[in-house]
Amino acid sequence: MHASFSKGLNDLQRAIGYQFRDESLLVQALTHKSYAGEHGLKSYETLEFLGDSLINFFVVDILLSEFPNASEGELAMMKSYLVSEEHLHELAEELSLDAYILVGGKKRNNHVSTSLMADTFEALWAAVYIDCGRSADLTKNLFNTLYRNRIVETVNKKDYKRDYKTLLQEETQRRWKERPTYRVISIEGPHHNRVFEVECGIREFRATARGRSKKTAQQLAAKKVLELIQSSEG
Ligand code: MN
Repeated sequence: MHASFSKGLNDLQRAIGYQFRDESLLVQALTHKSYAGEHGLKSYETLEFLGDSLINFFVVDILLSEFPNASEGELAMMKSYLVSEEHLHELAEELSLDAYILVGGKKRNNHVSTSLMADTFEALWAAVYIDCGRSADLTKNLFNTLYRNRIVETVNKKDYKRDYKTLLQEETQRRWKERPTYRVISIEGPHHNRVFEVECGIREFRATARGRSKKTAQQLAAKKVLELIQSSEG
């Protein structure tokens, strides 16, 4: 491990507010299998597996204590966004994880992908958990210190009560006893940065929308169709 990398690890540990006893665990969390193979190191894969579960647990615990009146359906929507690749990538970017990730082989000079960032972020939390002696409490407190307020803000900014696909379907069932249809029109962009265009239609009402996931695009298209139906009322 060269000196500038070690110095960087100190910055990262300062950023998360945790000093590793065993820095090799931190290095493992940052090591992609392409680099691990070349250098005889362990890769982050098993840590990612555990980190995924830890983050699910931390996020659900925050949601249940902050939003005690939310329905299970609302909680599920909040959670599915908060633990998504897209959101974890955002958290990883704030820590500049891409500057630390060790990638080898052909991938060495590629842009660090959204999923690689998210996976490393998951692995990082498992590394903290193992390094601190497997204290779920300590790890959860650290996670809360860093992300609790941010998560509450994110949830408040997004209107999770508005599930437009459900609202639209209720409306079309009520009016015509029919369901809207959804169709993917196009998928653009590189693998790690896709944009989906989706069309939603029912009877003469039709709209398209774009989103970073098929689900998001469908929600936005459903919202537009719902507005069309409601504004068509004489
Ligand atoms: Mn993952």
